[in-house]
Amino acid sequence: VRENAAAARPEPRGTHLACWTCGARYAPEPARLLCNCGAPLEQKYDLNGQVPHGSAALADGAGWGVWRYRQWLPVTDPRSVITLGEGGTPLIPLVRATTQGLSVFVKDEGRNPTGSFKARGASVGVSRLRELGWQSLAMPTVGSGGSAWAAYAARAGVRLRVGLPQSEFLPQIGLVEPKVYGSRVDQFPGTVEEAFQRFREGLDEATAYVGAFEEPYRLEGEKTILYEIVEQLDGCLPDYVIWPTGGGVGLVGLAKAYDELVGIGAVSPDSIFTVIAAQHTSSGPIATALRDGLTAPRPGRPSGIAPGVCVGRPFAGEYVVQRVRASVRVDGETASDREIRGMMVRLARDEGIMLSPEGALAVAVVPKLRKADRIRSGIVVCVNTATGLRYPKLLESNPG
Ligand SMILES: [Zn+2]
Repeated sequence: VRENAAAARPEPRGTHLACWTCGARYAPEPARLLCNCGAPLEQKYDLNGQVPHGSAALADGAGWGVWRYRQWLPVTDPRSVITLGEGGTPLIPLVRATTQGLSVFVKDEGRNPTGSFKARGASVGVSRLRELGWQSLAMPTVGSGGSAWAAYAARAGVRLRVGLPQSEFLPQIGLVEPKVYGSRVDQFPGTVEEAFQRFREGLDEATAYVGAFEEPYRLEGEKTILYEIVEQLDGCLPDYVIWPTGGGVGLVGLAKAYDELVGIGAVSPDSIFTVIAAQHTSSGPIATALRDGLTAPRPGRPSGIAPGVCVGRPFAGEYVVQRVRASVRVDGETASDREIRGMMVRLARDEGIMLSPEGALAVAVVPKLRKADRIRSGIVVCVNTATGLRYPKLLESNPG
């Protein structure tokens, strides 16, 4: 029965890789991580000619989760799929921590394997990279990405090295968990960017460096969040999605998913849809660039209790800002440690949801945006990128 079901499923519709910057196109194979010009590559699909067209073309109806959208993912052979049950996370309406005039939801990505949205990108990334022949990967991370890729690498039988910066704010679990999955874990001094550079310099050529935008496939997994949200809202886009932003893969995933949803006719091209980057008040390069209409982020040195948003010099930051703005309406806002802690406590007590500090940040900017009249009405989805359980020290230091 299972084999018959698999045989009836639609074929993957990936066609080629394209450089968003210079327009170069590449065949799906042999493996290629970046464009010859050094810019990120995007996986493209045959969006037209799909029968049926529209919302029915979105999913194959086989279960709930990332691989429900297999025809819009880059893996060509179903036997290459490495899955641990990622995606299919709940969209939870807030009932007490509300803002007047708005319907606010939390997309709770903390329910994923290893407790973060990184499981989506890791599942698709590890599956496709192994399918293309890579047996050794290197993941630069501030924590949750290393855990996710370590789990999927273990499942796939692929070697993984995890490189982290030395920072007091990194949750201990980010150092411990990948080792348990059998990955090698190293920490490097300096800023996040300096640490990642040192990590990279020590790698051999047979190892794929899979940082944000340094390979095309993680993005494909992460974009499925918007596919799911649209299905959960009965075929409608929310008015706003707020994403706690680090390197910007999440934002580009939303923009790319929007383009594809319009392309296959699953949502109306007239939909008004705004993507909002949430970052820390100490420095929010991408949030500030999107808010102020800059063509590139101004580098900064962010710090604070939400390590996932503390990327001061995002790789391909200029691409992120321009790519997202080319597809959707954009805005950006920041919040402080005090506001983040306050929202973590509030959502735990009022809603029964244990957010990561990054997820709390996304919710914390809602009343600020409402007060400034930059959000007026409609449906707001805040992405909780990881479970608060990954941050036991933060939970201990929150007064009862
Ligand atoms: Zn290029």
